[in-house]
Amino acid sequence: MTTMNEAVHWSADLGGGTRVALIQAGRFRSDAGALLGVVPRMMWNSLVVDEIDHDHRILQALNCLLVETPAGRVLVETGIGDRITEKGRAMRQYEGTWILPALEAAGFAADTVDAIALSHLHYDHAGGILKSDGSLAFPRARLVAQRAEWEVAHGSNARLVASYDQPELALVRDLGLQSAPEGETEILPGVSVFPTGGHSAGHQGVLVRGADRTVAFFGDLAMRPWNANPKWVTAFDDFPLHSVAVKTELFARAAADGWTVVLSHEPVHPVGRITRDRDRFAFEAGE
Ligand SMILES: [Zn+2]
Repeated sequence: MTTMNEAVHWSADLGGGTRVALIQAGRFRSDAGALLGVVPRMMWNSLVVDEIDHDHRILQALNCLLVETPAGRVLVETGIGDRITEKGRAMRQYEGTWILPALEAAGFAADTVDAIALSHLHYDHAGGILKSDGSLAFPRARLVAQRAEWEVAHGSNARLVASYDQPELALVRDLGLQSAPEGETEILPGVSVFPTGGHSAGHQGVLVRGADRTVAFFGDLAMRPWNANPKWVTAFDDFPLHSVAVKTELFARAAADGWTVVLSHEPVHPVGRITRDRDRFAFEAGE
């Protein structure tokens, strides 16, 4: 581990002037059963026994990446942010430092971020775009979420929009649409986003390629180590069969090419590799 300071959970030099730092923007709790989807409790209970609370919720970290390249800086994800109501904060047991002060504590000034790549626009990923006063937290950054994601986030299907904070997203929608990619796009040399769908209609992953090493972030398709099994899909996934198919394809590539994978909500060991495990895959923590 090449930790720069306490605010940085993990960092790595990928070669060629590209570095990645993992910064956790607080934690919250989610219903364990919902996170494990159709998997029976007897199969997963032992995995969460240390962290599950009396309301059957488990601890979810808000993992964000700061990617530094010779061409600029990309922030991946923004967490829940600082604008959530007291009621929402209490309901989700959200605690910790939100992304702006967390990044600053790690030594990255807000106005040095050139782009924000968002895997999708659910409240726990897109909540840190604005400061509590409503101004942009990262004033120079363009927003990089798929156009399809902005569209579904502002739709009217009650099941599909349940995890979006629509009034909040409305405040940044015009800004977001100005720079919304449609399909696979290179944000900066070596940093690209690629649509995956599955968890949400416009969900995307992020790939950071250095000269020596590649880091992949699969967003909420890979929240926790057990999600390395393509069939272990959350009940929050809007298109679960698509999640299974796209995970199978992406994890095969990650395993074959030896990508370092960062999990979106794993609190303790979020960095590792995906390896083949019989007809499925496993996540092996390690740097
Ligand atoms: Zn999430």
